[in-house]
Amino acid sequence: MKISELLKTDGYRMSFEVFPPKTSDKYDSVQAATEKIAQLHPAFMSVTYGAGGGTSKYTLDIAKNIEKSHGVISLAHLTCVNSTKETVKERIKDIRDAGIKNIMALRGDLAPGMEDADRSTWDYRHAVELIRDIKESDGDFCIGAACYPEVHPESANQREDIIHLREKVEAGAEFLTTQMFFDNNLFYNFLYKIREAGISCPIIPGIMPITNANQVERAIKLSGSFMPQRFKSIVDAFGENPAAMRQAGIAYATDQIIDLYANGIRFIHVYSMNKPDVASAILDNLSDILTK
Ligand code: FAD
Repeated sequence: MKISELLKTDGYRMSFEVFPPKTSDKYDSVQAATEKIAQLHPAFMSVTYGAGGGTSKYTLDIAKNIEKSHGVISLAHLTCVNSTKETVKERIKDIRDAGIKNIMALRGDLAPGMEDADRSTWDYRHAVELIRDIKESDGDFCIGAACYPEVHPESANQREDIIHLREKVEAGAEFLTTQMFFDNNLFYNFLYKIREAGISCPIIPGIMPITNANQVERAIKLSGSFMPQRFKSIVDAFGENPAAMRQAGIAYATDQIIDLYANGIRFIHVYSMNKPDVASAILDNLSDILTK
């Protein structure tokens, strides 16, 4: 099923994100974790794509297994910035041949040193070019793209970021998933601005449960997200007690999700990071809210 169809259905729903292993020796444990998450029957599961494409086979294998063995809709991520047109064409064909209907089309992060390179010779400079190529391929895909409530770090300002976001939607992205955020007001402000800019497709907020203190720095570095004082206080109080930090982090993410549902959002994506216990705890917390 295409995610665009799923997003037209009523009810409060949730999807989970997993990532492929970096090396083959970790494949079995990652596969087992993704299967446990699939057994929780989320609305869909997304499988990230390692920057550079070195683990692309794992992305596809995991996405295929989720869909074929567990009947859960999968969303295969695909990045383009380090790839040639030819490689991307092959990847799109592999996704189509695997029977996967949903692609998250991304540029991917620039490797160190690439920021100042001459981009005129690159096959892909931006995700919009990948979206156009997926649209022109002979697969019948639903395409998702990324968006940034706190502005993409390379953008000069939010206005410019939203102009380029609209180009992705005009090129064929049918839904947008946000970068993680820890203050819902930032998301509500963003939503207002993109609707004002004429972007009317569904937006899925991405929520990251932070369950250990070490994750905090990594999450901020990766996403540039603002950490509210309320969350910093949790880390100060419980950061050195792993069980307490896990419980508080899950409660914080649950609270964000309840607030989003209460304010008219129907669909939420959780960055579950291959942690079935975290995914399961969040579902338990919302068991009487989520649509069965
Ligand atoms: P783009 O849409 O190309 O935007 C990148 C920057 O270029 C922005 O500043 C934008 O404003 C600007 N821009 C866009 N189009 C133009 C244009 N035509 N002209 C000038 N400027 C333009 N990374 C991975 O490696 N693997 C993953 O699986 C993955 N999954 C992700 C999932 C989500 C939901 C999110 C939010 C991010 C994910 N990322 C992933 C990270 C993502 O690859 C990086 O954030 C990357 O730096 C930008 O990707 P993008 O698709 O948003 O790029």
